[in-house]
Amino acid sequence: MDDLRDTAYAYYEHFNHETQKSIQTFSEQMETKSLPNKIKFREFSAYMKDIGFPQFGSKNFFDQLKRGKKDHLVYADVITLLYIIESGRPFCNGLDCKNKFIVGLYFTCVECFFKNDCNYIFNVCPDCFRTKSYDHSHEVFLDPIVMLRLKTKLDKSKGINDDTFYSDDDKKKVDRALQIMQIAVSLGNLVAATTAMCSIM
Ligand SMILES: [Zn+2]
Ligand SMILES: [Zn+2]
Repeated sequence: MDDLRDTAYAYYEHFNHETQKSIQTFSEQMETKSLPNKIKFREFSAYMKDIGFPQFGSKNFFDQLKRGKKDHLVYADVITLLYIIESGRPFCNGLDCKNKFIVGLYFTCVECFFKNDCNYIFNVCPDCFRTKSYDHSHEVFLDPIVMLRLKTKLDKSKGINDDTFYSDDDKKKVDRALQIMQIAVSLGNLVAATTAMCSIM
């Protein structure tokens, strides 16, 4: 999780004041009323469900996101959370992991990816992939970096110039939380930059 935190904070430093302020507002909406600057699990979980991200509302994920022995999240954790949501990091669909959030590298089903508007639909962690501990009808899996290169190459060969990988469903979810939408605009540059990079590679 430390790598994700560092990446999120690095982006945060590049956000303009307005975006930083909207993240603050987003964070405050989850705070426990009697405990300023602290976000307890109950409020966090309910809010994640309200804005259309129920998969992030689990106790498992909350425990991964919070630091050390604290029983609550702080503002810095919310910055990490927004980066995790925006970067589309998945939960493991493997048999042993039971939807555990994948902190590092993961493998995604190629067929599901292309059938679902280039979304990472079925994903497994490296352990589940190596031990084939998953139940899925398709066979070919790739990690997202190789996948992105593959998609870019395919788009180039088809003459498609599409720099967005978000489905209509995702857009609807993002629309529900204005603050998240603003961050999506900022982080959207990341997707465009990655696409540009891959086409040069
Ligand atoms: Zn599949
Ligand atoms: Zn797993």
